[in-house]
Amino acid sequence: MMLADSYGRVATDLRVSLTDRCNLRCAYCMPPEGLDWLPAPEVLTGDEIVRLLRVAVSMLGVREVRFTGGEPLLRKDLTSIVARTAALEPRPEISLTTNGIGLTRLAGALRDAGLDRINVSLDTLRPEVFRKLTRRDRLDDVLAGLEAAAAAGLTPVKVNTVLMRGLNEDEAVPLLKYCLSCGYELRFIEQMPLDAQHGWKRAEMVTAGEIFAALESAFSLIPDDAHARGSAPAETFLIDGGPVRVGVIASVTRPFCGSCDRVRLTADGQVRNCLFARQESDLRTALRSGATDAQIAARWQAAVAGKLPGHGINDPSFLQPDRPMSAIGG
Ligand code: SF4
Repeated sequence: MMLADSYGRVATDLRVSLTDRCNLRCAYCMPPEGLDWLPAPEVLTGDEIVRLLRVAVSMLGVREVRFTGGEPLLRKDLTSIVARTAALEPRPEISLTTNGIGLTRLAGALRDAGLDRINVSLDTLRPEVFRKLTRRDRLDDVLAGLEAAAAAGLTPVKVNTVLMRGLNEDEAVPLLKYCLSCGYELRFIEQMPLDAQHGWKRAEMVTAGEIFAALESAFSLIPDDAHARGSAPAETFLIDGGPVRVGVIASVTRPFCGSCDRVRLTADGQVRNCLFARQESDLRTALRSGATDAQIAARWQAAVAGKLPGHGINDPSFLQPDRPMSAIGG
């Protein structure tokens, strides 16, 4: 069995949102007051998550598991979930996307539990911009978290950056210089229409083209071998002849849906066959009403089979999903 769609794509990379809660309020994600979080009874337990992961890995061909949120470090049983995922057969590659707050405490334990890779969000090096962008004063905690991840051997530590016009768009070069000096691999991500406020405006988005132009004012960029990219979202470029690289995830201006191998599971047990899906398939109810592994697997397969060719952001008929980014995950 595998998670195939009608365009010949096969999902082997599962993104699991462990919670919709977060300790930051990033402007491109949610309003300053936060959101009404998912009711606790609807959030999957650790046992339920691990059971679904076992079905995905042992029956549906999933080979990579990425834990996301909201902020996954807020989940008290995160280390145990990682350890139980690492014990699955065949063992999937395990990664995590986090805002980094709390990594100084958890990086070593996550590494020991079996975490292979980590992406940390960092959009600015300026405390005043960090406060404005996230509505919290936690830049030092994020930078310390990055150091802790590197010290724990979660290398190469990857940094995810979203540039916003009028806020941090002038920080592309300083952020790359900082990451190069620390040995982190930087990825710029075009801002996507997934914010809870539905305030995304194409004109306000900093495009991949603008990011390249900014970077090329200070570095020479050589495109990496396109074949090496495979289904990875990031286009990577050798900096000044390499071997260090920088990546750009240009979902809006240079979409990569044709080779998509991703599927998502939300914290309340819904399958999303695309980040921008407008329909979901409920596994939680099936789980809690005694469905067998085979029945759950079949339901999951059906959910992916109906995947659309792409996100449709560039179509006039595009409608932003109701579920916000914070409840979908990266
Ligand atoms: S937008 Fe959807 S189809 Fe496109 S790459 Fe992302 S998850 Fe895949």
